[in-house]
Amino acid sequence: MLEYCLSCDYEETLELKRESVIITVRGEAIEATEAFYHCPACLEKFTSSYGHDALEEAYREYRNRHHLVQPEEMRHWREQYGLTLTELSQLLEWEETTLNRFEQGALQETSEDKWLKFIMIPQNLLYLIISKPETLSAEKRKQLITQLSTNRNVVETLQRFYSLLRENFSDFSKQMMDRTKPA
Ligand SMILES: [Zn+2]
Repeated sequence: MLEYCLSCDYEETLELKRESVIITVRGEAIEATEAFYHCPACLEKFTSSYGHDALEEAYREYRNRHHLVQPEEMRHWREQYGLTLTELSQLLEWEETTLNRFEQGALQETSEDKWLKFIMIPQNLLYLIISKPETLSAEKRKQLITQLSTNRNVVETLQRFYSLLRENFSDFSKQMMDRTKPA
């Protein structure tokens, strides 16, 4: 990548340099690498067009430290179910631009991350798809319900849930029977 100085008439190509910087993310100091071009003649610094973004690196590290979902995880997960940005944002009840910003690297709040992780659990996605029939086309809805309701994790979770319900419900109905017995 050839870059020439934009401030003086230094004729050689500028060298790409890397420097450690400390970026504060939500009050936390995070070390990241900044890449830039440096002119040895006029000492001017130019932001690199190399594709490395120190802020993006700091956000990534912050998400790792706090176990937040990374942008590419969100996108891969959404694409795995063939959901468009519009469809998923409607299921989440978010603005489409919000979801898009997160997928592009904006840092989500902890509360937003919790909601994301909630919907990323297959049985919760299934529940939302069932309870919001207006968000998807009939065909896509049917296909996703089939896909999710045959998912092994979903089936096992629901089986555990129903057996728990059955156990507690039989106790509950027995108590009610005892209470209504004539003295
Ligand atoms: Zn220069």
